Amino acid sequence: MVVKILKTTDELIAYRDTLEGQVGFVPTMGALHSGHLSLIERSVMGNDHTIVSIFVNPTQFLAGEDLDKYPRKDEADIKICSIAKVDALFMPNPNDIYLSDDEIIIKAPKIFGYTLEGYFRPTHFDGVVRVVLKLLNLANPNRAYFGKKDAQQLAVIQKMVRELFMRVEIIPCDIVRDTNGLALSSRNVYLTPPQIEQALLISKSLKRASKDVMSGITDTDTIKDKILSTINVLRVEYVAIVDREFNTLEKIEVGNTIILIAAYVGTTRLIDNIWI
Ligand code: AMP
Repeated sequence: MVVKILKTTDELIAYRDTLEGQVGFVPTMGALHSGHLSLIERSVMGNDHTIVSIFVNPTQFLAGEDLDKYPRKDEADIKICSIAKVDALFMPNPNDIYLSDDEIIIKAPKIFGYTLEGYFRPTHFDGVVRVVLKLLNLANPNRAYFGKKDAQQLAVIQKMVRELFMRVEIIPCDIVRDTNGLALSSRNVYLTPPQIEQALLISKSLKRASKDVMSGITDTDTIKDKILSTINVLRVEYVAIVDREFNTLEKIEVGNTIILIAAYVGTTRLIDNIWI
């Protein structure tokens, strides 16, 4: 099956109007890997139709970030979507998504939007909610699939959907890792082999933290210190231990804890997390 390519918002709306039954939607920035594919597969399994979008959203990048060099692999992505039995691939231009007189602004909430990722990338989540709201309105899916890899993004989107009474079910999907543990990310292509070795310290430290919790350590400062000592060769932005609402925890609460790391390997910024 060859995936149908939709370039404009009008094409997507017209296509959506032809669909009957349940529609699943997977928004991405492309350079698809097995992490994206796991979301796509869940959507294909769980719905009558699946729409994937590929849009490198300029409003979620800060000045000086990698917007211009963000990996783009349209041809490979089209093949992957065809093989995965995606029905339609929406690949708009920024001018289609952001109208020249675009004025209505939605802002990310404070606690999710301006702590951790939002603190180090202020306005990032404003761009995320702005684009995801537009994409969900266009695709009008029954379900939309998001990775736990971007845990804070997932929380922001769940809050948006709740507050705006949007009629879409947000489906959180587990983090997909390489066999060596590295969380898959489109940005991993920036890493040299020695940098991959360094990057592995992040997932190793998270796995070890999870083992420490299982062995009875619940004090979050102790867990954090152990993580920091494992990843101290990296330029660490944060190690955080929060509950599912992103409130800082003093003690681990099994079933309600996320341990998150953001760190640079060379000039590449990586994030990873583990749900406890
Ligand atoms: P991106 O293209 O990076 O914007 O990601 C698109 C979607 O794929 C987001 O919901 C991500 O959280 C999700 N995603 C990215 N990497 C992974 C991964 N390794 N495992 C699971 N989901 C992922």
